[in-house]
Amino acid sequence: MFRSARLKLTAWYVLGIMLISIVFSIVAYWALTPEIRRGMYMQALHAEALGRGQGTDGNEQPPAFTPRGPFIKVFPGPPRAFDPQLFAEAQSRVATRLIILNIGIFILAGATGYFLSGRTLRPIEEMVNDQKRFVADASHELRTPLTAMRTEIEVALRDKGLDAASAKDVLQSNLEEIGKLQLFSDHLLTLGRYQSAANNREFTEVKLIDVVEKAYQEVQPLAEAKNTEIQSDIDDIAIKADKESLTKLFVIFLDNAIKYSNENGKVFINAKALKNEAIINIQDFGIGIRASDIPYIFNRFYRADASRSKTNVSGYGLGLSIAKSIIDIHNGKVNVESTPDQGTTFTITLPLKH
Ligand code: ADP
Repeated sequence: MFRSARLKLTAWYVLGIMLISIVFSIVAYWALTPEIRRGMYMQALHAEALGRGQGTDGNEQPPAFTPRGPFIKVFPGPPRAFDPQLFAEAQSRVATRLIILNIGIFILAGATGYFLSGRTLRPIEEMVNDQKRFVADASHELRTPLTAMRTEIEVALRDKGLDAASAKDVLQSNLEEIGKLQLFSDHLLTLGRYQSAANNREFTEVKLIDVVEKAYQEVQPLAEAKNTEIQSDIDDIAIKADKESLTKLFVIFLDNAIKYSNENGKVFINAKALKNEAIINIQDFGIGIRASDIPYIFNRFYRADASRSKTNVSGYGLGLSIAKSIIDIHNGKVNVESTPDQGTTFTITLPLKH
């Protein structure tokens, strides 16, 4: 698909360039040939003037040059030394050169057009491939809970002696799967929102401490369930940001820090201002991330194997890609330092003014 689009685009580039080149050549030919003719004419006049009024046939000629008045009155016809054959040859030489020039331009335009169309289409191609990958990954994530639900229902329906208690179990399990699907669709919607509407956000002066407090409230139930202590040390910093997105950002990092820590763990969050930036650290002492996984954790749907095997934490690998989109919206940066089985520190740098 992209190959034929590239060829079509090349053809349009070449067509445009050739149109300009051909028009230019016609104009050049049209403007040049009278000039050549004039030059040859003048040369012939000069030759005849040097011949001191003697024509080739030996007859007396009119004076070669009259300073005043148009020479057409002096020479009604072309001078004898003017050779129309020579002029025709010069004309055809100009035409041949222009044709050769146009062939050269055609080849050059073809090569350049092919190269440029490749460059023009590459980001679109990458976007389409990314979209395809996204659809494939999302379908894969959807299939797992749907298959589980279907199997359970089919088995229950085949069981002729299914009692109310077992039916309730099936419904309960299905409800859990539906919960997962709901969470998944929420994540997808959030991701879509952050990736498409970067410019529609309202940036206001936001106090970091307020945002962290709000995020803390959201993750508190999970922290309590795992008996995790969250300690914060936030300087009095205000940054130009979208408050809702920033809250979401801290919820994601705090939620992960709790999720990927053992019970009775600790999570530190601190923030300070340095020059024109706010530096925020979120540190946990949980399962950590292997160095080989670190480059991929911000990719959509990526989940490190350790997080699946060591913890029984469910997730879709979308949290950090949402976080990355939010950081990008705020022109910020994120850095990860992690040691397996010792813990992880995420450092987020956000400019104070957007
Ligand atoms: P999810 O948590 O839903 O799997 P995320 O995008 O939030 O998705 O995280 C991607 C992966 O990065 C996780 O699956 C996990 O392997 C790893 N990860 C993220 N945060 C931490 C952390 N604090 N400690 C250890 N691993 C983490």
